[in-house]
Amino acid sequence: MPTTGPTDDPVDALVIGAGAAGLFYAARAGEAGLRVLVIDHAAKPAEKVRISGGGRCNFTNLHTGPGNFISQNPHFAKSALARYTPQDFIDRLARHGITWHEKTLGQLFCDGRSGAIIDMLVSELRDVGGQLRLNTTTGAISKTDGGFTVETSGGLVRADRLVVASGGLSIPKMGATGLAYDIARQFGHAVIPPRPALVPFVFEGRDKEDFASISGVACPVRASTKRADFNEAMLFTHRGLSGPAILQISSYWAEGETISLDLLAGRDALAALTAFKAEHPMKAFATALETLMPNRLVDLLAARGAIPDVPRLADMSHAAIESVLADLSNWTIRPAGTEGWRTAEVTAGGIDTRRLSSRTMESRTIPGLYFIGECVDVTGWLGGYNFQWAWASAHAAAQA
Ligand SMILES: Cc1cc2nc3c(=O)[nH]c(=O)nc-3n(C[C@H](O)[C@H](O)[C@H](O)COP(=O)(O)OP(=O)(O)OC[C@H]3O[C@@H](n4cnc5c(N)ncnc54)[C@H](O)[C@@H]3O)c2cc1C
Repeated sequence: MPTTGPTDDPVDALVIGAGAAGLFYAARAGEAGLRVLVIDHAAKPAEKVRISGGGRCNFTNLHTGPGNFISQNPHFAKSALARYTPQDFIDRLARHGITWHEKTLGQLFCDGRSGAIIDMLVSELRDVGGQLRLNTTTGAISKTDGGFTVETSGGLVRADRLVVASGGLSIPKMGATGLAYDIARQFGHAVIPPRPALVPFVFEGRDKEDFASISGVACPVRASTKRADFNEAMLFTHRGLSGPAILQISSYWAEGETISLDLLAGRDALAALTAFKAEHPMKAFATALETLMPNRLVDLLAARGAIPDVPRLADMSHAAIESVLADLSNWTIRPAGTEGWRTAEVTAGGIDTRRLSSRTMESRTIPGLYFIGECVDVTGWLGGYNFQWAWASAHAAAQA
């Protein structure tokens, strides 16, 4: 392990947060010759890396581009993403002997456990002589002529640069705090109101009961709001809806809005049902629909009156079939809310990018103050984009 314990010597860079962004920054800055200290209040580094991707860390996405990120300024992430690409990270993994595979949609996962990436991050920090101090809380921060002084539970730290990498608010049980936002505000930076993203929806009343009754059923859908749409799987849960399509659209959803679900996405339902009708005119409409979606979902739609009770397809006109399919392609529901910070994979919103340099992540008003990773108002889609932002924003800051 890197050295721990108090240091009275000033450091070139103090990093708050030993997560993906903080550790990656520290190793890059150390390579560039900086004396770096990383502090974290948690007992272990990078716990989110450990649990990510179901324990195999979806560490990047081959298709990463600025369009995969949500921010008040859609241009902000461009520079950092262009200067540190998924291939750069893949090359680094190769140097450490970490093998990986593509799952789907460009999502790259470790072949083994995600702990291999944490080991890589920590060993790279050690190799450049960086220090890691865990179980260390942060107190008052002051700007001095030459840099910053930070009170910590391990003593006063003086640093030329202060790099804030303490993440967002998602999963407080894992140590998430709003420290980055407090530091930003202290130094005059605005914060776009943080909100839970990549998070399941919850429902109330009849919807909640209905969805719970088919908990575990999954189907491909296109989930849309006014601002975005995603073609991926959806999962019914005891509390509402989850699955990749729902997590993705949750990042674009605003409280009180409806979402639209195309339950027949990706299939030519009209052609399939017309052919089925020609072959089985005496079968029920519901039976025909079961060739296109899970039986339990068809039963639920029938119980809700969303599909007609037609015992013989022969009695149903082409126009009537078309009209029911149109409704199923635009099933509009209103979530009561989300599961909130308890299960949100990321935080949308965060430190306003307007006063940050997109080249270096440095404050435009407080020289030497940097914000990297999830605390910044740049939020990736599901699928490895958030880690790619952590690596890329850290790399950009370390280049400064
Ligand atoms: C369940 C889950 C699965 C995920 N899976 C993926 C995935 O597969 N692919 C992907 O791209 N993204 C995934 N993410 C998102 C990804 O983990 C984050 O976007 C990423 O970890 C952000 O990196 P970060 O370094 O900015 O922040 P973090 O990784 O959150 O690190 C912040 C660090 O700061 C520390 N800290 C916080 N407050 C304080 C304080 N007050 N004092 C001192 N230290 C503090 C924390 O202990 C933590 O170590 C997942 C998230 C979750 C919750």
